[in-house]
Amino acid sequence: THFGFKQVPKQEKVALVRGVFDSVAGQYDVMNDLMSMGIHRIWKRVAVQLANVRAGDSVLDLAGGTGDLTKLYEKRVGKSGQVVLADINAAMLRTGRDRLIDHGLSGNIRYAQVNAECLPFADNTFDCVTIGFGLRNVTDKDAALRSMYRALKPGGRVIVLEFSHPIDPITEKVYDFYSFKLLPKIGAVVAKDEDSYRYLAESIRMHPKQDELKHMMENAGLERCEYFNMTQGIVAVHRGYKF
Ligand code: SAM
Repeated sequence: THFGFKQVPKQEKVALVRGVFDSVAGQYDVMNDLMSMGIHRIWKRVAVQLANVRAGDSVLDLAGGTGDLTKLYEKRVGKSGQVVLADINAAMLRTGRDRLIDHGLSGNIRYAQVNAECLPFADNTFDCVTIGFGLRNVTDKDAALRSMYRALKPGGRVIVLEFSHPIDPITEKVYDFYSFKLLPKIGAVVAKDEDSYRYLAESIRMHPKQDELKHMMENAGLERCEYFNMTQGIVAVHRGYKF
């Protein structure tokens, strides 16, 4: 692959991923809308619906970036609940915090710079641990899922929203053309950064398929695991519970 992520040592990969997000933090929101033609907003709404959280719940939004999911969860848990926006990248976290404060949100939102692989939270802390378009960037996904499970209260759920794999060959063809030919060009023009968007397409292809991710969640201890395909499998929401 372009960055040869499979070969580089782990620390280097962590540093590379951090670098990619440093260079896109500013244009991140614009690019999301442009690349997905606004559809990422719907994917996020569906994920939050499937999380089924209630007023007063506490939510950990891992790899939360600029806080789209945090904003949606905050509406559901209300003032008596709490959302922790957590990300490994300080620039993304800062952009997220500024944006949420601009939207008048703050009282029940906390911020934490964390690595998803080794969460610094006590066991049984959250009603919901969610990771949106973040798991595929994590080097040791099994460690991250175990860590998420540990931080979850019994009865709580993990919600993974992530790019996945098209479920029919026509969608796959169109999507391949879009993400390998078109997307890096859009990245070059809009964000002046072709490489980061090429990495994006490659990281999506290397991400485990729907069923494999489901099994990884089961291996981490989660129960009643299932997934919901959206946009013909281009994106999937995986859900699992801790009992
Ligand atoms: N959840 C947001 C959204 O859906 O718009 C942001 C997603 S963004 C594509 C991925 C985020 O994952 C980046 O902000 C990046 O810094 C973060 N990230 C990458 N590796 C991580 C790790 N090991 N632990 C925590 N966050 C990580």
